[in-house]
Amino acid sequence: MLPWTKEKRINLALPSLRIDNFSDELLQKIASVRQSGLTFAAEAGTQRLRDAINKNITEEEILSSCRTAFAGGYTAVKLYFMMGLPTETMEDVEGIAALSQKIVDLFYAMPDRPKGKSVSVSVSCATFVPKPFTPFQFEPQDTADLIRAKQQHLLDAVKTRKVRLSWHDPATSLMEAVLARGDRRLGAVIYDAWKRGCTFDSWGEYFRFDRWQEAFAACGLDPAFYANRRRAYDEILPWDVIDVGVTKDFFIRQDELAHESVPTPNCRQQCAGCGAAVYGEGLCCEKR
Ligand code: SF4
Repeated sequence: MLPWTKEKRINLALPSLRIDNFSDELLQKIASVRQSGLTFAAEAGTQRLRDAINKNITEEEILSSCRTAFAGGYTAVKLYFMMGLPTETMEDVEGIAALSQKIVDLFYAMPDRPKGKSVSVSVSCATFVPKPFTPFQFEPQDTADLIRAKQQHLLDAVKTRKVRLSWHDPATSLMEAVLARGDRRLGAVIYDAWKRGCTFDSWGEYFRFDRWQEAFAACGLDPAFYANRRRAYDEILPWDVIDVGVTKDFFIRQDELAHESVPTPNCRQQCAGCGAAVYGEGLCCEKR
């Protein structure tokens, strides 16, 4: 890809990099991509929570990626985290601050760091939105009040100005959660909200949560029913009529494992029995 973009004089931006395979070699390859900083998806602040959400990356891998970036001349890294993940506690939130601090300390402990420059660690926290056809389709989203409390807790836990925080508006995330797992009744809400002037809602300056709340009230529905409610494993979900190949039993098993913080190995090494093997031709392990 890089030789092609270079030849075509196309400027390639790299939104975020995988931590588990970031290397000096990759850094050399992307040297031609003009970027002021590198972005890594760290996902969660503690190993326990990264295990729970099945992100098979370790703190050492995160630090090692940052070390490689700093040794390669970068002084700014951006880390993506998710806030409000299932099983998350305030300790996990503090872990985001602790990890960010370790990256700052790592920079200043490196003898080969870029001389005369200071480090900048940007921490971006998206709010977790449970989605259909995932192990967390049964999970409640944290309420907007709880997310705000976690955001404040993180703000209090960060002790250095080298770390800058940003996050999503909890009301927007609530609407995302409602629409992600909505049922047919939401059609009336969307229509009503549109009649009240709701358009271009993903642009912050156009998003009017008060009008959405009015639309829900007019239709006799409660957003919390969709966003903040745990679904029982035997509840019939609106999307159960769609067969994506992966079984509901698999999602249930994975959700249970998440609550035990037990990661599932990459299925290229060991099949986890998701159901896709018996679905269609050539889709997975048996054909690899
Ligand atoms: S190897 Fe195939 S059947 Fe097994 S978990 Fe992966 S995709 Fe599913």
